[in-house]
Amino acid sequence: MSIVETNSANGLFKLVVHETWCKGCRICVDLCPTKTLSMVESPDRWEGVIVKVTDMEACNGCGICEAECPDFAITVFAEKAKTGGAA
Ligand code: SF4
Ligand code: SF4
Repeated sequence: MSIVETNSANGLFKLVVHETWCKGCRICVDLCPTKTLSMVESPDRWEGVIVKVTDMEACNGCGICEAECPDFAITVFAEKAKTGGAA
């Protein structure tokens, strides 16, 4: 499996998903306040599902997914998240 990087169009946020480490528990999907993440079918995984970034433009860089993933499978980079938002 691979490491998948997704950048927001405004350049402020990047999510890095370590797919090898994702066990498909969906904790991050349930806790993400902006519905950036989704579980998608992945037949090659024994769990049958894996997390994917499906709406990167919704991500606000809050870091909840990184903090709550029990398997350290998501890393959040928020370049300028505290500047008050992009104009
Ligand atoms: S919380 Fe972690 S292990 Fe669970 S679905 Fe999300 S990325 Fe995968
Ligand atoms: S950083 Fe926050 S908004 Fe972005 S995917 Fe993770 S939980 Fe969702």
